[in-house]
Amino acid sequence: MSKYQVVVIGSGPGGYIAAIRSAQLGMKVAIIEKYDVLGGTCTNVGCIPSKALLDSSEHYHNAEHAFEEHGIATKGLSFDFTKMVTRKNGVVKANNDGIAFLMKKNKIDTYYGTGSFVSKNKIAVTNAKGEVTELETEKTIIATGSKPTKLPFLPIDKKRVITSTEALTLKEVPKHLVIIGGGIIGVELGSVYLRLGSKITVIEFLDKIIPSMDDDLGKELLRVLRKQGMDFMLSTKVTGATTKGKEVTVTAENKNGEKVELKGDYCLVAVGRVPFTEGLALDKAGLTADERGRIAVNDNLETSVAGIYAIGDVVRGAMLAHKAEEEGAFVAEVIAGQHPHINYNLIPGVAYTWPEAASVGATEQELKQKGVAYKSGKFPFRALGRARASGDLDGFVKVLADKTTDEILGVHIIGARAADLIIEGVVAMEYRASAEDISRMSHPHPTYTEAFKEACLIATDNRALNM
Ligand code: FAD
Ligand code: NAD
Repeated sequence: MSKYQVVVIGSGPGGYIAAIRSAQLGMKVAIIEKYDVLGGTCTNVGCIPSKALLDSSEHYHNAEHAFEEHGIATKGLSFDFTKMVTRKNGVVKANNDGIAFLMKKNKIDTYYGTGSFVSKNKIAVTNAKGEVTELETEKTIIATGSKPTKLPFLPIDKKRVITSTEALTLKEVPKHLVIIGGGIIGVELGSVYLRLGSKITVIEFLDKIIPSMDDDLGKELLRVLRKQGMDFMLSTKVTGATTKGKEVTVTAENKNGEKVELKGDYCLVAVGRVPFTEGLALDKAGLTADERGRIAVNDNLETSVAGIYAIGDVVRGAMLAHKAEEEGAFVAEVIAGQHPHINYNLIPGVAYTWPEAASVGATEQELKQKGVAYKSGKFPFRALGRARASGDLDGFVKVLADKTTDEILGVHIIGARAADLIIEGVVAMEYRASAEDISRMSHPHPTYTEAFKEACLIATDNRALNM
């Protein structure tokens, strides 16, 4: 039987980073993946394919709606959806291959098959042919990720009533895509198909969209997406869906108790994700999942069984690839006897719509709830020369700072390139910068980053220079 110091179960961003960092620290490592490709949800059916389709559809949208203003004619413009999807598949494959290469480079043994505990230190890998290989290990890292949440009254047939996984592999552009859930997946995949000509209706239970982010970002994104043509039914509860041939009828009820009926050719259910632990035989290792399906861990990401760790979507916290990656490196370093640290308050969140929305630290609602005295500086992109030059005028940067000390407590951006801009907020907050610190740093002109500086000037002393 092969013996390892570390066995990682699951090859998503949590698992493969944990394996690489463990190998870098000199450990003998194996990684187990139940599918025949590495990379997990993020690489195969999450971050990477969704961003590939978001980028392709954004190019088309710009050619259709924005090029003319720049003096570029696009007569006879069209798109080939099959080619778009083929390109997306190629992007995914390049990432799969890249991860496989990294496993080889770091001398990590890869086993394809379902990993399940035989005992605390023994793991069986059952491959697609039913063949079983047993591995002995000193430490185990569970990184088995998550799967889409199902609504008990709404069966998913994966053909007409679908999850994000099927929405990324459709053979045609939907005529009318009804999306249940106005969270991150709803607005991202809704944007893809809206840009390609689908009618999109988002049904959201709450009175706002992207509820995990600051309310101001949700309001601005709602305004801009409505302007782009996306329909939203807020404060509306879905009650069921029935399929007849190619038609799905979704029934719902709004806050006034009025019944609503929508007919579409596809219905995407995007109401969150739940931790995935099926097939692990946790009980054989003396472990159980909690009432929400998560594996409980302590501050060192160690489970109730010494030597077994868990990371990423399968444990508490934001279900984000970069959070899983941080935990992957963290846990390898803990196993190696180091004392790493993760600042969970500084894990940024991004919605890759256009404009993008990005957030780090406390939201205004959280500061109010905690009774923290704060100041707010908000600067609109439309006041920037750079934004006028590109024509991306929507959105703003909002900086929240402590009323007394001026320390930055939260940064919330919606606008062009917000996904990249947010890192300035992360760095500022990691080093506990005040808003004045940032406002006294030179920001290149003309760039979108100037909105960050201006928002800090407003937060510090209400003295924007360009507004
Ligand atoms: P996963 O990536 O889910 O990987 C778990 C792996 O474990 C899987 O490959 C699974 O097959 C394997 N596995 C499970 N059980 C076993 C077993 N018993 N034996 C062997 N293998 C097993 N996050 C972002 O930060 N940015 C984004 O842009 C983004 N976009 C997303 C878009 C979509 C449509 C979706 C669905 C998610 C997106 N996410 C994004 C979230 C991100 O994908 C997850 O947070 C991330 O993949 C979690 O990583 P993980 O390593 O914990 O688990
Ligand atoms: P989410 O939690 O972001 O949003 C789910 C939405 O569905 C919420 O707004 C919720 O109020 C709504 N909802 C729940 N039940 C409902 C019901 N019965 N009827 C109508 N609405 C209902 O979840 P998601 O969009 O499914 O995404 C899942 C996870 O994947 C998230 O944790 C997210 O962080 C991650 N993800 C991240 C990215 C990114 O980082 N860009 C992209 C996609 C997914």
